[in-house]
Amino acid sequence: MRPLHRIQSVWLAIISVAIPVAAADEMKKPNIVLIVADDLGYGDLGIHGGKDIPTPHIDAIAKAGVRATSGYVSGPYCSPTRAGLLTGRYQQRFGHEFNPGGGGGGDAIGLSLDEVTLPTRLKAAGYVTGMVGKWHLGNSPQFHPQQRGFDEFYGFLGGAHPYFPGGNAAAPILRGTEPVDAPAYLTDAFAVESMGFIDRHKDKAFFLYLPFNAVHNPQHAKAEHLEQFKHIADERRRTYAGMLTAMDEAIGQVMAKLKTHGLEENTLVFFISDNGGPPVNGSTNTPLNGQKATTWEGGVRVPFFVKWPAKIKAGAVYDQPVIQLDILPTALAAAGAPATGKAPLDGVNLLPYFTGENKDAPHANLYWRFGQQIALRQGDWKLLKVAGDTQPRLYNLKDDIGEAHDLAAVQPDRVKKLQAEWDGWDKTLVAPKWTPGPQQGKKKKAARNQ
Ligand code: CA
Repeated sequence: MRPLHRIQSVWLAIISVAIPVAAADEMKKPNIVLIVADDLGYGDLGIHGGKDIPTPHIDAIAKAGVRATSGYVSGPYCSPTRAGLLTGRYQQRFGHEFNPGGGGGGDAIGLSLDEVTLPTRLKAAGYVTGMVGKWHLGNSPQFHPQQRGFDEFYGFLGGAHPYFPGGNAAAPILRGTEPVDAPAYLTDAFAVESMGFIDRHKDKAFFLYLPFNAVHNPQHAKAEHLEQFKHIADERRRTYAGMLTAMDEAIGQVMAKLKTHGLEENTLVFFISDNGGPPVNGSTNTPLNGQKATTWEGGVRVPFFVKWPAKIKAGAVYDQPVIQLDILPTALAAAGAPATGKAPLDGVNLLPYFTGENKDAPHANLYWRFGQQIALRQGDWKLLKVAGDTQPRLYNLKDDIGEAHDLAAVQPDRVKKLQAEWDGWDKTLVAPKWTPGPQQGKKKKAARNQ
């Protein structure tokens, strides 16, 4: 071969190798990891001002991405929030207003089969989809996670589960549909299974849904963590601290696994809680008023962190109201998948807002309906009815995040306007498909059964 030809050949070889590699890099779909905590108190994370329970790994997600300080969930309860999360639609549009387990519906109780789930959509876009954790969207075979878009499943189908072996033979831990031996400590098992999923699918685009049952009751903490927090006098708080620490460590292990495989940069990670903390597990929602099962801020405003180092700048704080319904369209946009299908999709793609490309508020209004309890958030304002209220309350959250000063009497026109907007939204909903059930009407049993 003459020298010139050899040079041309070398160049052609370089070009033919370089172009496909560059194109493939650019087009590589991000992995998506969606972590959900259960009944986590708003004020319990270090990054939210918590002092007594270090949460370095959860805080690290917020620090490496954006912390949405007005992050909400569309329900103050486990199952309704998950129904909204996996559909991107207000769950009251399809009757999923309360936890399944109440009256009506029998085996037909679960996430409506007419709804298209996030994993179904991502699977259609070429993703491998896996779930590790608590389902709580129906126990019957037709509602099983692997019938609703997940390739793989490890976890349990109900709303709560013991953390140590020997507690719940009737509702075992499943791999797919097969019962498996209960692990030594459930939160640790969820970390191990999640890391296994990442190991198996590290070369493909994957979606990992990781809804921990921590820090939901029953209160079971490992001895080493009880020892670590022996200085906390209150037993409930001490146990809670142990459970939260176990979850924080599990999340740290999963994040480290991404890093080990070089996947950290191009993985979109979400972290939320499914609702606010209930007093019964020793959690605290400071500075918010109210708790789980209420439409006070303490029931529906949650930790809401999103990181994607390839696209979102680290250390950002975003204060416009956002909601867990936004996670589906955000994930689909990141995946390059269409957000088509059943209308209306209530969530919006948050990426342009988080990058600063779009300076507007993502939502004109956010709405809540949980039986007789209602709420509407518009800008800094919140219209609210909690149990027993005949007239709505009005709060300015900018000045009064703790909802202590009801302004309804001094701003009747604003109350009227917001109520009319809520009424308009309410007309687009259907009646609940099942009743709340005894556990949602009785505070004493609340945390045990949800
Ligand atoms: Ca919950």
